[in-house]
Amino acid sequence: RKLVEVKHLKKYFRMGKRQILKAVDDVTFDIYQGETFGLVGESGCGKSTLGRTIIRLYDRTEGQVLFDGEDVHKMTPKQMKRFNRRAQMIFQDPYASLNPRMTVADIIAEGIDIHGLLTGKKRLERVYELLEIVGLNKDHANRFPHEFSGGQRQRIGIARALALNPEFIIADEPISALDVSVQAQVVNLLKRLQEEQQLTFLFIAHDLAMVKHISDRIGVMYLGHMVELAESEQLYDNPLHPYTQALLSAIPVPDPEIEEKRERIILQGEVPSPINPPSGCVFRTRCPAAQKVCAAVKPAWQEVEPQHFVACHLYQ
Ligand code: SF4
Ligand code: MG
Repeated sequence: RKLVEVKHLKKYFRMGKRQILKAVDDVTFDIYQGETFGLVGESGCGKSTLGRTIIRLYDRTEGQVLFDGEDVHKMTPKQMKRFNRRAQMIFQDPYASLNPRMTVADIIAEGIDIHGLLTGKKRLERVYELLEIVGLNKDHANRFPHEFSGGQRQRIGIARALALNPEFIIADEPISALDVSVQAQVVNLLKRLQEEQQLTFLFIAHDLAMVKHISDRIGVMYLGHMVELAESEQLYDNPLHPYTQALLSAIPVPDPEIEEKRERIILQGEVPSPINPPSGCVFRTRCPAAQKVCAAVKPAWQEVEPQHFVACHLYQ
């Protein structure tokens, strides 16, 4: 079942008088109920903006987001309130995203308080329960965010996101700001929660190695566009888009013999500005396989084999 349907979504930002930054440009894909969808791309490719536009933290410029069949960007305030209970976000920076003047209990119960769901002892019991779910304990409830490490703060952020029993969680680079030593713990926690509570996850990350083990399917973004989407194994075993191939070639393989023989694809040049993206294929200025048609015609987003989508002239 499709829980989230993103159709030709665009999010443009006006920069000054005449310039337009095309952060998300015509993105189409679905997220299935109960899956973890990994969204990958370099910083600035539009993945956070896409996540935020999906749950309407940003208004969309064009296109549609359907959640359980309902158009998110056309919801009335009352429908939005219900939607906000069903869809939650975990932010990248566990330092900036927790109010330093609020206790852990008040942070975690913020949604419960806004929606007026529980008070007094019941509310506190729910906070304790949530702390336990994320691997903390009730002694932490009356303390303040600065008393915790980065990994613990991210657990608090996760508890806050879980407080309203959401169905869908967007985790925007939830581990990139953490020490490498605690990254795996937080990923394992998210994985366990996803399984136990049958959550649907949009897991945003900047490299493919990070999402490999957690994602059922993966979408790769470049300069505001989704360029490839496939089931995780399929994407790793048979990447089609030259950009995905380059990203994968940069991930070291543990076996030194294979590692030695592997060819790295080094991309030339810089990512162009989303204010002035290249004509035709947005990747063409850095693509080792670019042909004449790539500058003239934008490649269509096509399903080239079952459940494997790519936007590239090599396959059309
Ligand atoms: Fe490269 Fe052309 Fe494919 Fe774009 S459409 S990725 S430039 S081959
Ligand atoms: Mg980001």
